[in-house]
Order: sequence, then structure tokens, then C-alpha cells
Amino acid sequence: MAAKAGEFRRPFEVVDHAALMRAHAPPPEYFDGDWLQPPDRIEALQLERLQARCRRAYQVPFFRRRWDAAGVGPDDLRSLDDLSRFPAYRVDDIRKSIEAHPPMGDYQGASIENALDEPVRVFMSGATTGAPRPTLYTQWDREAGAILMARALYLQGVRPGDVVLNAWAYSTHNGAFAFDEALHKWLNCVVLTTGTGNVTSSRRQIELAHQYQATAILTTGDYLLHLADVAREMGLDPKKDFNIRALPNIGDRAKLEETWGAPNYQSYGFHEVQWVSVECPERQGLHIFEDAFVVQIVDPETGEPVPDGEPGSICITEIYKTGSPQFRYDIQDLSVLYPRERCACGSWLRRMGPFAGRGDNMVKLRGVNVWPEAIGEIALDDPRLEADYFVRATREGNRDEMVVHVVSRADASLRDDIARAAADRLKERLGVRIAVEVASPGDLDTWTELHTSPKPKRFRDERD
Ligand SMILES: [Zn+2]
Repeated sequence: MAAKAGEFRRPFEVVDHAALMRAHAPPPEYFDGDWLQPPDRIEALQLERLQARCRRAYQVPFFRRRWDAAGVGPDDLRSLDDLSRFPAYRVDDIRKSIEAHPPMGDYQGASIENALDEPVRVFMSGATTGAPRPTLYTQWDREAGAILMARALYLQGVRPGDVVLNAWAYSTHNGAFAFDEALHKWLNCVVLTTGTGNVTSSRRQIELAHQYQATAILTTGDYLLHLADVAREMGLDPKKDFNIRALPNIGDRAKLEETWGAPNYQSYGFHEVQWVSVECPERQGLHIFEDAFVVQIVDPETGEPVPDGEPGSICITEIYKTGSPQFRYDIQDLSVLYPRERCACGSWLRRMGPFAGRGDNMVKLRGVNVWPEAIGEIALDDPRLEADYFVRATREGNRDEMVVHVVSRADASLRDDIARAAADRLKERLGVRIAVEVASPGDLDTWTELHTSPKPKRFRDERD
């Protein structure tokens, strides 16, 4: 039986927008207000919201089961420090939940069955590792998430009323829609929904960016650099003939800024929680939107919190949603958390380091813990190499081996020398010998998925 008018709530009816904007101020007013809050106010608000999310998460079977097993519950959360008493979970736990309760798992705090009363959207993870992981978003969660992303875009240079190209893939993934909603709903930006180069050719992307004088092109840093090459082929100068003022693109910062003549500020976010943090013009770390998140850094192996300043895995708790909770989600992206200090920009919001690699990629190579990203960074410390690499772990006989593939435009006769120099640097800095192979530009693209993924792949484990 179809629902009649009055028997269901439409999306705009379920969110009190005045309350939403008080809870999570949009830009530009956010930066004159909550961005500058003193520490005690930030933390008091965090605790209040954390306790509310904790009570809600306890009603969700996935969390109740795990917390009951650990002997903790909402009454145990009396301070921000108590958060560590609650067990963290990882993507594997999500996968098991989906296997046991297909297709949505039992970690959702909203449901498709209830969509007449609580309209929801579902988006799925990029499935870079394993089956796609769905997350249900309530209308409030979409709107609040869009505000967070609008803040990040604003800080990166996008201004209300701008024309922006969205060259992310509109698909089952959250990314393109999240950008779209942030731009359209909270910044009045006019979005040209071009999608990726497969949907709208690179030449057409450039034509549109030029004709409409777009101020940003949302895509990977590498694709944006490719678009600059296309522009030049078409007789256009990326700096002079376009109006690019913001580079919310993840990639080679120096090259992006030099090519397009605009500043690049880093940011961090992921599918389930949306936008977490963004760099301010001081470039001393990424300010966390602490009205929406509590970020911890934990040891990638033990899951225990590590001291401020030490690298580890990002463990995130959102405190802004009404639907599916993320309560101590150990996302296994590596970063560091800096002590709370006032930034020169005036903000007390805690800062974290940029995305520094994947914690689950850690390989114990002859007794030494190595991360592919660390290998890449050391290997690339040579002006003859491009900012591109891929690491493979293999098993030779009874030995774990690693090989790093790097990219050079140098003459073939120089490759042996480049490889030897990189292998020596790695041995010196990491204490283990790692093989180096030199490839030509483009050779690694099918491994790295540079042009299709927001987070290029840098590692493949080929051991059994
Ligand atoms: Zn700052």
C-alpha cells in the first residue's frame, strides 16, 4: 500500500535548519565564530555530544555486542579520556558484520524500511580493499556533512557563488555527491557536474572550465595536472586563461601551485564520516572540525592510544550524526595528532598531520617494520625521479622481499645508477635492503590507479 500525503515526512521536513546551523555553523560565519572557540568550550561541547552519540550507538546491535563483551556502556563515558575504554573496530569488523547480515550489516543506525519517516541515502565505500561497505545517511547527516565539506572548500579558496567543476565520479560512492551538496546547498556554487574523464572528455572539461571561468576543478591532483597539459595543447595558459583560485586536490602540492597559480591546502576525510580536517593558511597541520569529531591516534598493531606527536592509525568518533554511528572507527590511515595549541590563525582546534599512508600496509621485513609510504618517500629523494611509486611485497623462498618501482624521465643508460642510489638510501635509512626498479612515466598507472582513485594505491602484498 502506497503511503498517502501526510503519512510520510519529506527530507526538508525532518531537519530543523536553524538548529543545524547552530550546532554546526556553515562558512563563512563559522570562521568568525566556532573556529575561534576556547579549548574548554570545545571540549565541553565534545563531551556532551559524545555522550549522546554513545547512548545512540549502544542501541545499534554491532556496537552493543562489542561493548557488552568489553564490559563498557554509555554510563562509563564521563570524560573525554573515557573514550579509550570503548573497543575500537576496523574495516574487518565491518566486513564480518555485512557477511552475517547482508547487505547492510548490523552497524547501521538508520534503515531503508523506515525511509518514509526518516528519509535516507545510501553510499558505499570505494571497495579498494574487499566488498563495498554501505553507510546509510539520514537527512541531518547529509546536511551536516555537507556543511563540514563546505567549510573545507571555503578554507581552500572556494567562495559563495563560484562556478566549480565536479570531475569526481557520480556513482555509488559518497565523494562526488558530498562535494555537490556542499557546493550547491551551503555555498550557492554553480556546479558543473562533468564527472570523470570517462564521462566528459578532458578537452571538454577544459572547455567548460575556461568558458565558465570555474574557480576550482574537483578531482585528483594528478588528473588536474593532466588537464593543464590538455589546456596547453589547446593553446590555453593554465595560469592566465583560467580563473582557478582554489586547489582542493590531493597531489603534488608544489607542482599544482606552480601550474595553476593558486594555493593548495591539504584536507582529510573518508567515505563514512565525510570531511574531518583541513589545513589553514598557516600550514601547520590540519585543523579538526571538533564540533563534529573526536580524533585519536592509536598504535597500528595494538590499537592503544599513542602519545601526542607519535605516528599511528587514525581512530575516529563522529559526534554530529543522527543515523549510522562511527564510534572509535580505527580507519588504519596513518597520521599524527599535535598537542592542543593556539594556531597563528587564531584557532584552538586540534591539528593532525596529513594522510601519511595505510597502517594495514605495514610489513615486517627481516624484523624491521616498514611502511610502503615511508619507502616511497625515501626512494623518491632524487631530482631525477617523478613523484610516483609503487611498492610490492613478495616471498622469495623463505624470505620476505620488497621491491619499489619508481618513475624517471631520465635516459635509459642512467637507470641503473638511479636504482642503485635509491637502494643505498633505503638501506641507510631503514636498515634493510629493498630492490628498486625504474619505470617510465605512465608505466605504474594500472597499479596506482592515479587517475581514478582519490587515494592512489602504493602497495600490493603478493605474499601468500
Ligand atoms: Zn590555523
